[in-house]
Amino acid sequence: MITGVFKPAFRILSPSGRRGKLFVFIFHRVVDQNDALLPSEPDAVQFDWMMNFVKNNFRVLPFGEAVSLLNNDKLPAAAACVTFDDGYQDNFSVAMPILQRHGLVGTFFISTGFLNGGRMWNDDIIEAIRASPNAVVDWSEFGLDQYDLTTHQGRILAINAALGKLKYFPHMERNVIAREIAHRSGIPGNSTLMMSSDEVRLLRAAGMELGAHTHSHPILSNLSAREAESEIAQGKEELEAILRETVTSFAYPNGNSTRDLGMRDVAIVKRLGFLAAATTDFGVAGSRTNPFFIPRFTPWDRTPHRFALRCAITLGKTLGR
Ligand SMILES: [Zn+2]
Repeated sequence: MITGVFKPAFRILSPSGRRGKLFVFIFHRVVDQNDALLPSEPDAVQFDWMMNFVKNNFRVLPFGEAVSLLNNDKLPAAAACVTFDDGYQDNFSVAMPILQRHGLVGTFFISTGFLNGGRMWNDDIIEAIRASPNAVVDWSEFGLDQYDLTTHQGRILAINAALGKLKYFPHMERNVIAREIAHRSGIPGNSTLMMSSDEVRLLRAAGMELGAHTHSHPILSNLSAREAESEIAQGKEELEAILRETVTSFAYPNGNSTRDLGMRDVAIVKRLGFLAAATTDFGVAGSRTNPFFIPRFTPWDRTPHRFALRCAITLGKTLGR
């Protein structure tokens, strides 16, 4: 098991102060047991060794504090954040205990519209495919395609194809179609996939940071200015009402800064009082990085050595920047 062998290199590549770099890990789910339909989501065992590596090689900070230190040239060496998007229940039940065991703080960006029994459109599709019999399903009436679910590999391909196609449908249409597909597959409307308000409060009480992620997770660039402002504001207000404190960190839904959001949305985020925002752009932030465009790193390697190596390579690419 790799422990702290990269630490000296990381501290050279990511020194403290003006030349500091901020490495922000992004997770969505941390599943209790490996889920064959979700091969890109780490399970508890994988997340545990990832956090063991992170603890031994990085200095982990809450996202908001880290970005503030970055912009003031005061970041400690090898600084990192561990972030989670959307508000999945397993963040509370699986990820938090592992973070606590390693003495780490996480930042959880919550889409408030799904708390307390909701389900996101992508999970409507995944659960519909999970529940469907081994057959070819035809969703062409919804603007999707026919999918061959007779093999496991076919199911994985179907999930990726259907999600990829539906992702850029208009926001409401996307939600209605996904819910109808779930309904026809016998999936109940309510779900335990996402956290409850109480679990969000317990995360905060455990010392974790909570950030906003809109109310219903639209792709902001697909919305009118009024809709975008309403979504961002509602997500912030609802989270603040749950926590009874001001929320100043934000993550853009979907988060590709050239495709999923525009300067208009960044201006709204600033105007509403956020101090830092995360994209899903790949990379490591430096002191010249705009605090409203903090890139992140998706840890998709599934062995400790590859994970460690990719962290090192990613930091190495920032040399001289
Ligand atoms: Zn998200």
